[in-house]
Amino acid sequence: MSRPIIAHIRLDAFRHNYRVAKQSHGGKALAVIKANAYGHGAVHCAKAIEGEADGFAVACLEEALQLREAGLPEPILLLEGFFEAIELPEIVANDLWIVVHAQWQIEILLAAKLAKPLHVWLKMDSGMHRVGLSPSEYGQAYERLKNHKNVANIVMMTHFANADNLSSNHTLQQIEIFHNATHGLGSETSLENSAAILGWKKAICIGDTKNQWTRPGIMLYGADPLMNTDTKLKPVMQLNSQIISIRTIKQGEPIGYGSIFTAERDTVVGVVACGYADGYPRSAVTGTPMAVEGKMTRLIGRVSMDMLFVDLTDIPNASIGSSVELWGNNVSANAVAISAGTIAYELFCNVKRAHFQYFDAANI
Ligand SMILES: *Cc1c(COP(=O)(O)O)cnc(C)c1O
Repeated sequence: MSRPIIAHIRLDAFRHNYRVAKQSHGGKALAVIKANAYGHGAVHCAKAIEGEADGFAVACLEEALQLREAGLPEPILLLEGFFEAIELPEIVANDLWIVVHAQWQIEILLAAKLAKPLHVWLKMDSGMHRVGLSPSEYGQAYERLKNHKNVANIVMMTHFANADNLSSNHTLQQIEIFHNATHGLGSETSLENSAAILGWKKAICIGDTKNQWTRPGIMLYGADPLMNTDTKLKPVMQLNSQIISIRTIKQGEPIGYGSIFTAERDTVVGVVACGYADGYPRSAVTGTPMAVEGKMTRLIGRVSMDMLFVDLTDIPNASIGSSVELWGNNVSANAVAISAGTIAYELFCNVKRAHFQYFDAANI
């Protein structure tokens, strides 16, 4: 092995988090494993809940085919549906479900000659204003699709813009708009991402949850989008590297590019083999938490492409080869993300050049 950067992936933690997501709602849960399972490895994650998951959600046909090729039989939803008519035969042949979020998709779907009807998740724009049919055109679109030979079944869905903000009433407004515009149409619905499962359950779960589908993503990877620290969720990824150089910098001396950090006291500085080319955010500021040999310390100076600096002044037993945790069990990915002005989603998706090692304590 060359560079010592390792992403340890706990598949038992992933499975545990899926169960937390599913049980806290009570309905069915599509595990969102788009973008290679938020950087964790889509096939590994899917296999960890094979036979248990109600289904999976991915961003596009290529991501779905990767799961089918790995032999996963569960339902797979394409969250953006198809981008071109030419994808439809392959979508049908692989038994994939599609989101329909725009009028142009409806026209293509209804004009197509399909070998089998498709499962459709008809998306409403209830206030996020990204994709989805407007509430006023929703009912008519639903009726057109409902009785058409190309459509097997319709789940009515929407997506929240501010579910991670418990003090905003936008989520309640979106719920009301959705319920009003779907009233009297179908019975199957899907509203919640992770933040809504964790924060808005009471407002959404009206009546029987049997026909309700949740779409948990980030919580499956152990990061709570509401930033609660007392969470039942377990971190799935632990990103580790090693110290490759140690020096003592005199008080007043600068370190690294731009000399943005100057030692406030004589400082023992460790150089870690991890940089922004590995996915560690360059925007992380001095003070971003990090752990060396299990002890909490901090990032100092500017992150470079292949290396970064860690403060070892209070960790006298640190040495060349000491293990450094960038995030994982001791260092919360949310805390690193906040220090870098981003979100845990982006940290996970950006990990590259790391050796991925999968671990699964079976039956957990
Ligand atoms: C990505 C995505 C999700 C999952 O969101 P999280 O915030 O990661 O739980 C759910 N629904 C849709 C439509 C998405 O695109």
